[in-house]
Amino acid sequence: MAKTVGVVMTEKVVAALLDDHKLVGELKRYPDHTAEHDSEQNGGLIEMPADALADLLCDYIAALAPAGSGVECAGIAVPGIVRNGIIEDSPNLPQLKGAKIAASVQNGLASRGLDYKVSALNDADAVAAGVAATRGQLDRLVRVWTIGNGIGYGRFPYTEGPWEGGHSVVTLDPKEKYCACGGRGHLEGITGHRAMRLRFLDMEPDEVFEAARKGDKRCADFVELWHLALAAATASQIHFEGPGKFYFTGRDIDRLEIARLREHLYQMVKMSPLQNYTIEVIPEDPTIALIGAGAAAEHAGR
Ligand SMILES: [Zn+2]
Repeated sequence: MAKTVGVVMTEKVVAALLDDHKLVGELKRYPDHTAEHDSEQNGGLIEMPADALADLLCDYIAALAPAGSGVECAGIAVPGIVRNGIIEDSPNLPQLKGAKIAASVQNGLASRGLDYKVSALNDADAVAAGVAATRGQLDRLVRVWTIGNGIGYGRFPYTEGPWEGGHSVVTLDPKEKYCACGGRGHLEGITGHRAMRLRFLDMEPDEVFEAARKGDKRCADFVELWHLALAAATASQIHFEGPGKFYFTGRDIDRLEIARLREHLYQMVKMSPLQNYTIEVIPEDPTIALIGAGAAAEHAGR
């Protein structure tokens, strides 16, 4: 099994050395809150130009995997649309739009004397790869929904395409317009944390779910819609790509009632050849994406 480096770059950078799909040693983080007096780090990633970010990733990868470490490749996971090592769109880190991140980091490492193959992928795809790697399913199709501020859709193995499943249209109601992308009727416009805050201006999303449990009608109706929307997008995926394994995870995964989702899916998928799908919740675990970034890089290097 290969040694790799996995990097996840969201609002922060986390990087780790991986051996046989397991974390080895300490993680590298930026901003590093153990160094909170370092004023340079106060702005976070959003204020860092793309070149400086690439440089930071090179420093971390070089520190985790110096010459002679046995590492041959590194994978970088980023939210947004990532194709052929290029970040085509990145809503959270807009300065990275158009950045040839894989080539920049690979060249930066080469100038440090490290000849590593670097690949880049979407962060939800990294979660799917991490699930596949940690469950011995690298030979199968694994699909993952990540539930948080936005709704990520990840797939392993990677197949060419934008795979913007979070923007699946799940309703024709013209009032459904809370998706950050501006599109009407989108899954993320119902189930995303940010969209929920826009819908319930007077309540935080956690309060909405809590009030629904206590019987508040408006909140309960919304929580039903939330589950219906996730089931609808999953049912569409089943009708396009077939049944198989679906996983649900992410920062806000505790909002999901899997039995409720299963019941809605049962109502939405009625063709018998499509009914042998499985759905499973995975508790939020940021290391899955790190492991997946490394596993996907190893897979791409073959
Ligand atoms: Zn959208």
